Amino acid sequence: MSMNRGGRPTSAAGSSNIGHPTFTGNKALQIEEPLIFEVGNTGKTGVDLPEPDGEEDRLGGLERKEIGLPGLTEPEVMRHYVRLSQKNFAIDAGVYPLGSCTMKHNARLNEKMARLPGIGDIHPLQPESTVQGALELMSTLAAWLLEMTGMAGVALSPKAGAHGEFCGMAAIKTAQLAKGDARSVVLVPESAHGTNPATASLLGYSVRDVAAREDGTVSPEAVREALGPDVAGIMLTNPNTCGLFERDIIEIADAVHEAGAYFYCDGANFNAIVGKARPGDLGVDCMHINLHKTFSTPHGGGGPGSGPVVFSEALAPFAPVPYVVRDGDVFSLVETVEAAEGMKPFGRQTAFHGQMGMFVRALAYMMSHGSDGMRQASEDAVLNANYVRAGLRDIMTQPFGDQICMHEVLFDDTFLKDTGVTTLDFAKAMIDEGFHPMTMYFPLVVHGAMLIEPTESESKASLDQFIAALRDLTQAAKEGDTERLTGAPYYAPMARLDETRAARQPILRWSPDRPAEAAE
Ligand SMILES: *Cc1c(COP(=O)(O)O)cnc(C)c1O
Repeated sequence: MSMNRGGRPTSAAGSSNIGHPTFTGNKALQIEEPLIFEVGNTGKTGVDLPEPDGEEDRLGGLERKEIGLPGLTEPEVMRHYVRLSQKNFAIDAGVYPLGSCTMKHNARLNEKMARLPGIGDIHPLQPESTVQGALELMSTLAAWLLEMTGMAGVALSPKAGAHGEFCGMAAIKTAQLAKGDARSVVLVPESAHGTNPATASLLGYSVRDVAAREDGTVSPEAVREALGPDVAGIMLTNPNTCGLFERDIIEIADAVHEAGAYFYCDGANFNAIVGKARPGDLGVDCMHINLHKTFSTPHGGGGPGSGPVVFSEALAPFAPVPYVVRDGDVFSLVETVEAAEGMKPFGRQTAFHGQMGMFVRALAYMMSHGSDGMRQASEDAVLNANYVRAGLRDIMTQPFGDQICMHEVLFDDTFLKDTGVTTLDFAKAMIDEGFHPMTMYFPLVVHGAMLIEPTESESKASLDQFIAALRDLTQAAKEGDTERLTGAPYYAPMARLDETRAARQPILRWSPDRPAEAAE
């Protein structure tokens, strides 16, 4: 094995061969963590309770059988889960520029609020009189969301963006059926998030693609061409997944409405426009907001999401139960369709009221920033993305020309042409540099897409380092030092996985007899 600049090993044998193998398989304090079934064994236990005396078997005749759960001591359990948690890269640990996902910094103040006993310790089945504060909090959050979006009604209960899409589209379907106007098609631009066509399809619609024009946005002409009496609505993302503001959105909304269809806006990228543009002013009929992408709150491995949906005047009556109503100083929940006086809810989507902890975090974020602070967060998100764009545009390539972007900047793989390096290699090499890779190969309309979203909270210093590292990797690819990328990651606990084999021979069940064997 030889070393190149900076002492990086360049062994042809690949990633697992840094230095000499250790006896334990651990790499310094990076400890290999086996499955819990491989650590524990059924003969061991962490608690030592005496056999109960004279207790009757209460299994009602069910046969008692060993189920083979591994036994571990308390410290072993602790180590297992702490080590696993340390393998989960997080925005708290470093730059996490995952485009479209908006890995926002989540201030500790939010966590503190969510853990207040009056919030953390309550139960959704408590009598309403004992949870007035929680209901008021939901009501306040709803009011802020309506204020920021310029809409008329809101459903807080959807538990993620995709769940919110279902909520909004179910309201659209119900509204049209109520008019006796059953329609079968939903328009979805090619650059849409995969959840959009999936939502339409789940509701029984067929999906009609709308192609993007040269500059990466949707043209009103293309929408007009695709519209017809069979079209229920359009699902349009704004800012879109290419990081661009759909500047003809009002004209598109008008065309959609003229055709008797509704305008569903995928608001996952709302983080870029809070305080700048209100969907209600743009002709949007309903839109989900990912609280976890716009108003901080952890997501992915860090916690659940929350996807409230805002509705226009026309659609608000069809929003699902439950919702909070206020009578003077008393807050109560409308829990059933029958109880929703004057409304026509399409039904109910969740067992209780939504992700309470996320409501608290989002409202804490809103109140600590204020309206000016939230507007600045949007401006800073856009500024940071454009700073990255300006730092890389001379050596990486942008699919739609060099135009100002919103909160995320999109590159394609044209700059890697003839280097033998792919977008995947580039992403893996970023891991070696200590960065979570950007979103790759999405949106699908862009070849070898690299979608970078730095978020507003990255400092200039961290962006400078990020840009310099990506420039260095680009140079390595162009100058033929390609092994640095094609064999990456070299420094991660796991080398590059054989994704083809993982897809073709998935090992879905661990068994003590054949741990490494593929399941049939
Ligand atoms: C994240 C995202 C979604 C889905 O949101 P989830 O909370 O992950 O279900 C939908 N559309 C776009 C554009 C997104 O970025």
